[in-house]
Amino acid sequence: MQGAERPGFTGVIDFHVHLPWRRRDPREAAEYLIREMDSAGVARAVVIAIEPSIALFKRHASPERVRKAAAEVLDYLVYLRIPGLREILFSPEDSIAEHERILLEHTRRSEEVLEAARHSGGRLIPVASYNPDLGVEGVLRKLKSGRYLGLKLYPTLHFCTPSERRLRPILDYLEEEEMILIVHTGCDPGIWEFPGLCEGARPKSLESIARKHPDLVIVIAHMGSYSALKPGIFFSEALEVIAKYDNVYADTSAVDPYLVEVAVDRVGYEKLLFGSDYPYVVGYTMRDAVEDILKLNIESKAKNAILRLNAERLLRRLGWC
Ligand SMILES: [Zn+2]
Repeated sequence: MQGAERPGFTGVIDFHVHLPWRRRDPREAAEYLIREMDSAGVARAVVIAIEPSIALFKRHASPERVRKAAAEVLDYLVYLRIPGLREILFSPEDSIAEHERILLEHTRRSEEVLEAARHSGGRLIPVASYNPDLGVEGVLRKLKSGRYLGLKLYPTLHFCTPSERRLRPILDYLEEEEMILIVHTGCDPGIWEFPGLCEGARPKSLESIARKHPDLVIVIAHMGSYSALKPGIFFSEALEVIAKYDNVYADTSAVDPYLVEVAVDRVGYEKLLFGSDYPYVVGYTMRDAVEDILKLNIESKAKNAILRLNAERLLRRLGWC
């Protein structure tokens, strides 16, 4: 069924999507993504690049370290809930090689996202990815080479903590240029399910940044809750940071709808941005994500704000609409 024929909410802004990884050509990926947006009533989407570093991954993910992180959380439930745990424990070398293959498959350079956005008639808004291989100077050059809404940092894939001193020139630049910082929070699939490997992705590490950069808009992706092992793992911590700092927002991508309701109750809806994380939640369409917000037991003005108005206000302030 076509989007236009479907009842429901239109004009949604999805603040967290990625290019479909099976469509390698950025223009083809943009067309595919726009068809998905049309079927979900999504008018515009923030498209985020993913740039891990294989060299850094190999330095950090030694078989010994990965086995130790797995062993720290080993119990029957964990064993059932983390796909591939058996391989990680019994043949970490093979598992690490498989992680490397997956990282390569899912890498999306910032330039590709920029190209996809260029061919979207203004419907896709590009966000660059931090890239440890480029270093701080290289990342700054990249940010200056095209018009991005902002930069995303993946403390899991990038084996870093956002408040590290060396990243400060990037944060200064984003703040000066009225660009945003999106930070992946919670855990991540595979070896990053182990708390020992996702400490850098705790929302509390954003506190000092929010304080030192009051004009920098920071978006806590996934509200600290991304985890198959412990869904909602750092959720309360995310709410504390959102409540405390005016410049800190959060997106709802891959967050359990129940937690979104709790967030509205505890911190209000003004700084919550709808995100689907399409196509990364397997078996879950952008339409499903929109409908999950519409089904929440919250006021309709809160739904309206989360699905569109909060993002619209932010994008207008930053010169994107
Ligand atoms: Zn994502």
